[in-house]
Amino acid sequence: MESIVRKEGQNCRNLRFKIHPTLEQEKKLNETLEYCRSTWNHLLSIRVDLYDRFDLSVSKSSLEKYLKNLDYPIHSSVRLDVFQRLCSAYDKFFDDIKNGRLKNTKPKKGMFVKRKDIPCGNNSSGFIKYDGILPKGHPKFKSKEDFSSFRYKQHGNGWKLEDNKLYLSKITGKSNLIKIDIDRLPDGELKTCTLKKEGKQWFAYLTVELPENPVPSTPENAVGIDLGLKSFITTSNDDFVEPPRFLRKAEKRLAKEQRKLSRMEFKSNNYKKQKQKVNRIHRKVASARNHFSHCLSKLLVEKYDLIVFEDLKIKNLVKNNKLAKSISDVSWNKLVQHVTYKAAERGKIVDKINPDNTTQVCSHCGTKKKEKLRLGDRIFYCSKCGLEIDRDLNAAVNILTKSSYYNPMHTVGLAGMNGCGDGASTTGLGIGSQVPPMNQQTLNLLRG
Ligand SMILES: [Zn+2]
Repeated sequence: MESIVRKEGQNCRNLRFKIHPTLEQEKKLNETLEYCRSTWNHLLSIRVDLYDRFDLSVSKSSLEKYLKNLDYPIHSSVRLDVFQRLCSAYDKFFDDIKNGRLKNTKPKKGMFVKRKDIPCGNNSSGFIKYDGILPKGHPKFKSKEDFSSFRYKQHGNGWKLEDNKLYLSKITGKSNLIKIDIDRLPDGELKTCTLKKEGKQWFAYLTVELPENPVPSTPENAVGIDLGLKSFITTSNDDFVEPPRFLRKAEKRLAKEQRKLSRMEFKSNNYKKQKQKVNRIHRKVASARNHFSHCLSKLLVEKYDLIVFEDLKIKNLVKNNKLAKSISDVSWNKLVQHVTYKAAERGKIVDKINPDNTTQVCSHCGTKKKEKLRLGDRIFYCSKCGLEIDRDLNAAVNILTKSSYYNPMHTVGLAGMNGCGDGASTTGLGIGSQVPPMNQQTLNLLRG
């Protein structure tokens, strides 16, 4: 039972705080970021160069040894993190090839043409810059635009939080620490600190490992949740929630500007300008989405002991507009993620079930429909028992009853489902009306 809610890393929370560096500290932050980017490009160029010219693969350990001999004014754990990020990018690349997710893209010797031997970065030791073609999926050389963060891996080793101020080795002194806006930190052990530049502002992402909480053995209030395009969520209690209209609007705008970007000539001046615009809208959408997701997840976790979702890794949505789908995917993932950690904090259960057949089966008598429900069919009608019910509600009920934690003897979660054929009545939990409105700051952000 424990294993489902206590998967590795699930008990960690990642929190984002704005920081207020002085001008001098900001300069150091920017320099560190630039050194990290150089390190990435430098290590990558070594691997690529040796492979391309001499057909040699560099082992991780020799590359790490090499790294340790570089004289860089950044903390060793920050430098090590860059190295490990590169290693996992390579691991993913080779793994994708092995599992057939990348076809015909195995790197071939001589593939990395058009090499320009020009130094880049702040180090004069002569980095080799490749302007050639790397195979699809291969780790890429990073330009300033796509390198925006670096990380201290362990609290007490290079970074420290002291009285709501941030100590960062090689960036702050021991006495002039960086001001950080922390309103509340959950109980737990501080782990990593990631510094991220978003636009012109800097943020710190702190990871906290939460203490283990007991899991109730018999959940009393349970709910199944259908994630959909029409309603963002529909619960087995016949509550449904829409994301705020302006979030939808901002998402649509993001999609439009992204399409514009994709039609522009790569790396042209217009492209760069448009990329910045897209990034700006992206940040606004992310912030609004975060706010919405936090509010909704809080309500769900307060109300229920068992919350059942479809496993998003398996969920295969109707072939809709691809972009619309990918945007909803992000929001759904965010919600599931938020509900999962909030539930873990309070000792409640989150279960993820295989979504197969959840739309096709009658939630009252269990008969499976022969013909597939189309996207436009909003009502599920069962010819066997006569149930006539909203299709998303029908799915939500099936999602709940599929969970192995669900026990109809002990669990409330299907109120309103007894009137077969009359359609389900609302239980009046009214989650939809309780999702608090966006705060003014978020609204302004979105309008800006
Ligand atoms: Zn039926």
